[in-house]
Amino acid sequence: MGDIGWKEECGICGIWGHNEAANYTYLALHALQHRGQESAGLASANGGDLYIHRGMGLVQDVFNKDILKRLKGRAAIGHVRYSTTGASHLRNAQPIAVHTEKTVLAVAHNGNLVNSDSVRRHLEAEGAIFQSTMDTEVIVHLIARSKRRNLRNRVIDALSQLRGSWCLVFLTPDRMIAARDPRGFRPLVLGKVRKASVVASESNSLDLIGGEFEREVAPGELLEISEKGVRSYRPFKNSGLARCIFEFIYFARPDSYLFEQDVYQVRKEFGKRLFEEQPVKADMVVPVPDSGLPAALGFSLASGINFEMGLVRSHYVGRTFIEPAQSIRHFGVKLKLNANKRLLKGKKIVLVDDSLVRGTTMRKLVKMIRAAGARQVHVRISAPPIIGSCPYGIDTPTRKELIASTHTVNEVRKLIGATSLGYLSRQGLLEAAGGPDGFCHACFSNEYPIEPEPRSKPAREPREVND
Ligand code: AMP
Repeated sequence: MGDIGWKEECGICGIWGHNEAANYTYLALHALQHRGQESAGLASANGGDLYIHRGMGLVQDVFNKDILKRLKGRAAIGHVRYSTTGASHLRNAQPIAVHTEKTVLAVAHNGNLVNSDSVRRHLEAEGAIFQSTMDTEVIVHLIARSKRRNLRNRVIDALSQLRGSWCLVFLTPDRMIAARDPRGFRPLVLGKVRKASVVASESNSLDLIGGEFEREVAPGELLEISEKGVRSYRPFKNSGLARCIFEFIYFARPDSYLFEQDVYQVRKEFGKRLFEEQPVKADMVVPVPDSGLPAALGFSLASGINFEMGLVRSHYVGRTFIEPAQSIRHFGVKLKLNANKRLLKGKKIVLVDDSLVRGTTMRKLVKMIRAAGARQVHVRISAPPIIGSCPYGIDTPTRKELIASTHTVNEVRKLIGATSLGYLSRQGLLEAAGGPDGFCHACFSNEYPIEPEPRSKPAREPREVND
């Protein structure tokens, strides 16, 4: 794969048949906030019209009571988009709504297409005009151009031409369609709140709205939800499961159930295996909060070494802060995490986190823990070394920025300043997640289940000054 970082993590949800569809979708988006903090949006339908509102920022900042009141109707879909360093524009916020010859349609997408460039070029050559750089717009164009008879078949026609990862929810005034790609890269669940049907990226959003989990939407399944109920179709050929293992490692919330497993239990199991594979004698196990918590607990249980909150996290750190004029050492990370000096002084520590990406966070934390007086800092990572970028929807930097792709384990250990460093093996990881088969582990193996097309540089976009 080329040296390109893809940045399209998202969360989606939809509710059909509820008097408070917009309010409930708004709440469901709150539960999916970890899947995206850059922008949030919601589209609703009242039988005749579609209403839409999108904004930059967190769910709680994008909506208020008045806006939610204006999002009328008994059906709604919602979207949260991940914070990235690059294309942070309102026009890339979702859902997107379009007017086709046949209907008005809104769509929310989680995932990343790997052939959207060539499809886009083909469409552009035929005169199509695009407003954003989003893959989702490609999907909508294909739907609008399909010659098939009804929306369901036009959606099937469009998705059959695309490769990559997609969980989608479409809304028109009279139906909702949800679909999951045949490889099942990203999660999607189906549930109920009273008589209303709900689809969402993760089951934890059902908990928040007092809903009931029914089942996961199967890989390659398409659901059509209308006044006639929920109808299931299997129009896409199953070419082997490739569920994203990184959902279990980092991305999903630990209170979610996905890929037929409880995320929290899987993370704990990662920690147990990590101790078995990379044992160490120490005085305490310290998690990097919050990402390393369940694995550290598993490590502590398996090793019998006490679990201690040696790092304390502030939950109130905003996304921007003002640097003090006189630089304070490790200021950025200090805002978020602080070492508990009295606890750590003179001790041998096992520091557990879920992943090392660039290695910058861990380098600062090891320094901080050493500065707090710890005698030894043994770093344990509940995933294998990340050596490849993700083209299917997880925000990973380019390959050369991944510390493990350019350094040996011992070199990484030296760079982060640890006494010892141990990763979980790929086999241990996959087995602990119920594998070894059925997962995409390209970021650890460079084995890409769908070979991505090299992405061409996007044409220069107009620069919005009020984004
Ligand atoms: P780094 O400092 O680049 O090595 O990042 C490692 C930290 O980022 C770990 O604490 C992970 O929990 C967290 N992390 C891993 N993957 C991601 C991701 N895709 N987006 C944001 N944070 C991540």
